[in-house]
Order: sequence, then C-alpha cells, then structure tokens
Amino acid sequence: MPEAPKNTQKPTDYSLELKNKKTLQFIEDVTSNADGVQKKVLEEILSRNAHVEYLQRHGLNGHTDRETFKKVMPVITYEDIQPHIDRIANGDTSPILCSKPISEFLTSSGTSGGERKLMPTIEEELGRRSLLYSLLMPVMSQFVPGLDKGKGMYFLFIKSEAKTPSGLVARPVLTSYYKSSHFKDRPYDPYTNYTSPNETILCPDSYQSMYSQMLCGLCQHKEVLRVGAVFASGFIRAIRFLEKHWPLLCKDIRAGTVDAQITDQPVREAVMKILKPDPKLADFIEAECSKDSWQGIITRLWPNTKYVDVIVTGTMSQYIPTLDYYSNGLPLVCTMYASSECYFGVNLKPLCKPSEVSYTLIPTMAYFEFLPVHRNNGVTNSISVPKSLNEKEQQQLVDLVDVKLGQEYELVVTTYAGLYRYRVGDVLRVAGFKNKAPQFNFICRKNVVLSIDSDKTDEVELQHAVKNAVNHLLPFDATLAEYTSYADTTTIPGHYVLYWELSLNGTTPIPPSVFEDCCLTIEESLNSVYRQGRVCDKSIGPLEIKIVEPGTFDKLMDYAISLGASINQYKTPRCVKFAPIVELLNSRAVSSYFSPKCPKWLPGRKQWNMN
Ligand code: AMP
Repeated sequence: MPEAPKNTQKPTDYSLELKNKKTLQFIEDVTSNADGVQKKVLEEILSRNAHVEYLQRHGLNGHTDRETFKKVMPVITYEDIQPHIDRIANGDTSPILCSKPISEFLTSSGTSGGERKLMPTIEEELGRRSLLYSLLMPVMSQFVPGLDKGKGMYFLFIKSEAKTPSGLVARPVLTSYYKSSHFKDRPYDPYTNYTSPNETILCPDSYQSMYSQMLCGLCQHKEVLRVGAVFASGFIRAIRFLEKHWPLLCKDIRAGTVDAQITDQPVREAVMKILKPDPKLADFIEAECSKDSWQGIITRLWPNTKYVDVIVTGTMSQYIPTLDYYSNGLPLVCTMYASSECYFGVNLKPLCKPSEVSYTLIPTMAYFEFLPVHRNNGVTNSISVPKSLNEKEQQQLVDLVDVKLGQEYELVVTTYAGLYRYRVGDVLRVAGFKNKAPQFNFICRKNVVLSIDSDKTDEVELQHAVKNAVNHLLPFDATLAEYTSYADTTTIPGHYVLYWELSLNGTTPIPPSVFEDCCLTIEESLNSVYRQGRVCDKSIGPLEIKIVEPGTFDKLMDYAISLGASINQYKTPRCVKFAPIVELLNSRAVSSYFSPKCPKWLPGRKQWNMN
C-alpha cells in the first residue's frame, strides 16, 4: 500500500466523502436541468452586458431571450471581432464586449494571421475554471478508490507572457491559472496534493522546472498514485527528459543535493524540503533506467500508479502506443475538455477506452450552441463547415439539449467574458446523454492538418510556407511537382515531415544546404505556436524534407483509387496519416534534409512594443 501523505490537516474520510457526494449531486442537478440552466446563463450574460457596445451595435436592445438573441446576433469567428480585441489590447477600456473589466488576454494555441488568438477574460472566469477542476476527482474517485491516500505526479508548466500595448497581460490559460491564487493558495486537499511544489511549477525556466519536478516525483515515488500532464505530448516529453538526465537526477538523490544548474532560489529551497540523501533509491532508479528496455518504466519507477492522466483525444491520440509502452498499458484517462475561450466539460466515465471518451458539457460554464456539420461523401470523408454563415445556416444552430445522437456539430459559445456566438473551431459528435446534457466525442479541430504538441497548422499555412521555401529552388531550374506532409511522432520530440517530388530541368545538382534552407524557410513561415514549440518548449523537432522519386505521387493516386477514390475528384492530400501511405512515401524517399537551426520566435506580437 502507498504511504499516506504526511499532513496534519488531512480531512476525515467522512468529510471527503460528503464533499464528493455534493459535487456529484451538482453534476446530477445541472445535467438534469440543462435547458433551464442554459436559459439562465444566457439571460445572465445578456442582462449584465446589455449596454456593451457590441450588443448595442447589433441592436439586441437589452433583450435576454434566446429567440431575439439568435435572430439578431451573428455567428462569428475570431477575425470578426479582432478589431474589437485590438482596441482593448491598445488600451480602450470602454465596455466594448463585456461590462466587467477585461483582466487579461488568454493566448490561444489557435492562431490567426500566424499569431496566437487573444481571448479576453475577466477575473470571475477563474472561479468557473476552478469549478470545472473541482469536479474531476470526485468523478474519478467513484472508479478508483483511495486516491486521497497518496499524491499525483503531474508535470505542469508555465509559459512566457507578454504585455499588450495597454499593459494587459497576455498568456496561456494554464499559465494564468497556475499563477492565480486559486491554484497557488489552494487549501489542503488530498486531491490536489502533488509531488511538484508550486515553486517548481511556477519556475519560468523550462529545464529547471522539469528537472525539479522530476526530482521531486522520483523522491516521493512510493506515494505517487497517478501521473500525468495536460496533454500526452507533455508527459512523453517528461519521460524523454528522464531518459536523458537520470544519471544527474540519481546523483542528487544519492547525495540529497540539488544540481548547480538549478539556480532558481525558491525552487532550490522547495526541493530541499523534500529531498533527503537516499542512496538506496538512487541505486534502484539507476538499475531500472540502465536496463535496455524502457517498457513499463512508469510502473517500475512509480509502482503504485493507478492511471496516466493526460489528454489523448483529438490529435493527441497519435501518442497512445508510446504511452501504452511506457506505462505497461495502465488506463489512459482523459478528464476534461477546455479551451482559452471557456472551459467546457468533463469525462464522466474516465476509465473508458481513449477511443470512447466523451465529454459532458457542464451547462453553467457558458451558453452553448451547435452548428450541424456535414461529411462530404467519398473516401476522404472530409468535414465541410462553411467559413462564414448565411442567414439560413445561422438558423440551423441548435441548443445544448436539442442535439441529436450520432450527429456531428461545430461548437459555438457565448461566454461571460464577452464572446457572443463564437465558433470555437472544434467538431464534436454526440455520443450519449447524461440526464438531459449531451456527451460529446471530440472529433477534430477544423482545418488542422499537422500537430505535434499544441501547434495547429492548417492547409493554407502549410501551402504558404511551402511556397516561400520553393523560391530557393529557382536558381536550379527545379520546381515542386507535388508535396504532402506527415506529423512524425515516432521521434521524440515529434516533427513535421514534408514529402517533395521535384521536376528537375536544370543540370546543376541541388546542394543539401539548399534543401536545409527550404526546411528553415518553412519553419520561419509557420505560425507562432509552432515556432514557440521549436524554440522555447523544444516540444517539436527540426522539420524534415524527404525528396521522393519521380512518379511517387502517381503511385499515391493509384493507391487512393484502388481504395475507392474517384479519379475525377482525386486531389493530392496535403497531409497523410494512413500507415500504408506513409510507408509508400518512405519507401520512395531518395534523400532527407533537416532544418539546421531553430526558426525565430519572440513572446508577444511583432507589432507590440516589447520592453
Ligand atoms: P487553447 O485555446 O490553446 O486552450 O486550446 C483549446 C483547444 O484544445 C480546444 O479547442 C481543442 O481543440 C483542444 N482540446 C482541449 N481539450 C481537449 C480534449 N480533451 N481533447 C481534444 N482536444 C482538446
């Protein structure tokens, strides 16, 4: 049995049980009365914000009912409200979108014009986010008892922040949350009892943060009952870090010291409170880590672990085999679905298979609407969602309780912070209902073709980047005949691979440095989230171009047609995932080149005057 955490303020089992019961009852109540709650949420948002410029401009005239709202207010994307957001960022404090002061901007991993989208938020939204977090462990404890008797080893990080010209902070939502008192000053709770001291999570240097969190996790290895990170990619990064740094970590554990590279004083002090010289533990870790195989390393080093808590839905599903390998098939648990715009919902059956995960939207979080999505017929089965909606399409949006089982929808939110009928960009499928509230499978994010970590690259961005790169081929009288791409997660970190088929008219051979320049130009042309992943988080490896033999893309077409694609409608896919197609491309690769260095990246936006 794992050792109980040594904390004198430990609540009694009875009070914890009572708290869990109350939380589960809350979920019962809001899902049973989902429509009533949604109506109230919309009324509340609209009555508070009746005088804001955006609602007045559209002529809502203080109405708070759904019908008028739906008739008058357009369904929008980020680009539609960007001028308003820019005004706020530039210092206009009048009530433009929201009657409450905008406390900061949350920088989304979704981009617009190559830069992170800026989501306005207000102070009270932190309370809503905390509420969603507070639902997770009571749900989990129904399926895995005793989680209060040990700790969670979670690798959590903050990212750099910037200031808008008006001085508002712009940072990712999790950075905002970890830095808030809701997280930092949380009262003792056995469910938020982590192996990482706050100081290690809040350390801005990613190496020091990871090193100290890993050190603390190893020292408390017997107490650990669950491990995780936000996304699967982040957890795999932690394992990779351990693979590289275990000798140094063992040295510290053996001697009870903290390596000199950890210079952050609060981090050193926090770690020293946990660390004690433990040669036996160091021997044990050394023995495990120096074995040839790292299969099951999680369960070997943290033997009481019951599950791995990471998001493996959406593009993160590409990491499931790697996680299964390292964890010896422990349950992979996806607990929640959230975004910078708003936190959405929780998984009420956390031990289900990753492919069956569904999220129950919590009706108090925001007002939700759903735009039906249609699949194109044919092999591609691609999702078609119009970019801007005509009046008829705007009327097709349905309310939370009116979605149909099996149907796919794009999520549209109206938030307390001033987004009205905003298209989040996620496609969801109704998998079932919890009382009256629907449960959704996450299907995909619209248009994203490539993703390794939190980067999301769409086809247009890729096309633009490739176009910039092929300029390097002009002096050689070579052109790009065809290309496609692949997110290769077999390497750690994963990286983008582009397959290029060239038409060579010139006689001068193209030197490798030219292809390397092409790789770098593509990286320089990709959005800021990609470049941050390359430069700052090192969560994405150097981009690779593989040159394939002439005729490869004809073979690709033949293969697609053999699977049923129509010759007339066939278009080269700009991204491939299907293993046999990737194999076909790899078998015809004649050379391969990598980006020789990192692209440029700076926090904030180009146009902001950074100090
Ligand atoms: P961000 O705006 O950077 O916070 O990213 C939010 C986006 O991440 C969402 O709109 C989804 O596309 C994706 N996301 C968040 N949670 C999940 C989840 N549980 N499963 C799949 N994708 C998710």
